Amino acid sequence: MDHFHYRDHVLHCEDVPVSELARAYGTPLYVYSEATLVHHLQRIQTAFADVQPLICYSVKTNGNLGICKVMCKHGSGFDVTSAGELYRATLAGSPGRKIVFAGVGKTDAELERALLAGVYLFNVESEEELHALGAVAKRLGVVARAALRVNPDLPPKTHAKTDTSVKGVKFGLDIETVLDVAKGVVSNPSLQVRGLHMHLGSPILSVEPYRQGLARAEVLIPALRAQGHPLDILNMGGGFGINYRKNEARTAQEFADVIVPAVKKLGCSLVLEPGRFIAGNAGILVSRVIYGKESGGKKFVIQDAAMNDLIRPTLYDSFHRIWPVAPASHMPAPPEDFESEIPGTEAVDVVGPVCESGDFLAKNRRLPPLTRGDLLATFSAGAYGMSMASNYNSRPRAAEVIVSGGTHRLVRRRETLEDLVSCERDLG
Ligand SMILES: *Cc1c(COP(=O)(O)O)cnc(C)c1O
Repeated sequence: MDHFHYRDHVLHCEDVPVSELARAYGTPLYVYSEATLVHHLQRIQTAFADVQPLICYSVKTNGNLGICKVMCKHGSGFDVTSAGELYRATLAGSPGRKIVFAGVGKTDAELERALLAGVYLFNVESEEELHALGAVAKRLGVVARAALRVNPDLPPKTHAKTDTSVKGVKFGLDIETVLDVAKGVVSNPSLQVRGLHMHLGSPILSVEPYRQGLARAEVLIPALRAQGHPLDILNMGGGFGINYRKNEARTAQEFADVIVPAVKKLGCSLVLEPGRFIAGNAGILVSRVIYGKESGGKKFVIQDAAMNDLIRPTLYDSFHRIWPVAPASHMPAPPEDFESEIPGTEAVDVVGPVCESGDFLAKNRRLPPLTRGDLLATFSAGAYGMSMASNYNSRPRAAEVIVSGGTHRLVRRRETLEDLVSCERDLG
């Protein structure tokens, strides 16, 4: 469910025509729907209400302060992976007790900053990190709450670059080593091993990996308790997939039906770290066609959004639905999968201006005929879109706007040419 729909042949975000936003803010432009963000958060809050989870929105998914503030206002905590993300969560108004900190390479400086901020839980990914956390906590005279991140070694479940729970990835502790590592800190007064953490990968379109991960937890948690650890938190990470095409995603309720009974049985409190599920379908990327051309027997639509704005197609071969913001009135409605052949469409590659053959948003995609100046919407771009954007080819990053009902607010201005060089020192 989202709040992007065509009304009188013009794409609207909630009650605002997207063409009006493009006019007001220019392109490329990220447009987010506040109602959609809140709806998705509430789907999880409702589905898991029985165990009153701490839901920690994953800041790396889309860390715009406007979005973080919406999350904070509606009761979410935050999952952070760096001092920068901790800074964002704090600026958005989150107390430390609703923040969890993951990542394989937390520096001493980051651990210190997070301890001073009162972060609720450190998702620890290696034995060395666990000891470093204890040492920093000791120096500060505080006690750190740790969850051991386990790699449960499950069968592959998503793109190799985003699967985090198969053998041989850098994440978490090998499942065979968790108990040994935990044993080494049983009597460390600066550390409490309070939790078990797993983030299985992303996006996950089946409940099965969670079922398998929970089976591992049901063995490990009693064993950790038997060592003397006060283990009372299960953190199941994020990973809930979304519909990039049709109806491939599972609902929050389907995930809850698997996770909630296990949490109750284990007598733990639950932490979840959803990102994509909340932000993915709450955002689109709006771009404008610059040129059309034919080359090598193919048609290209060259528009002003590029891999530096949305790298997912390049990096993960991801599919994003694309359709004109204002299709001609005689065009039939877009096909349900935005890909099947319908009359009046032609196959094109949708590419950007960046100097790489890998710079594309879609390949061999059937779209209505497009001409210079037409606006395009690339859907499901709210997650891992702007947060992975760069200045490659010295392209200023896009603006971001949040729509709420009939109103809209700019939450990040478009970068300028001066911004591009503002950190550089050799200005002559
Ligand atoms: C990226 C990440 C998430 C969020 O994943 P989604 O698939 O966007 O829900 C949660 N937890 C950790 C540790 C992550 O690295």
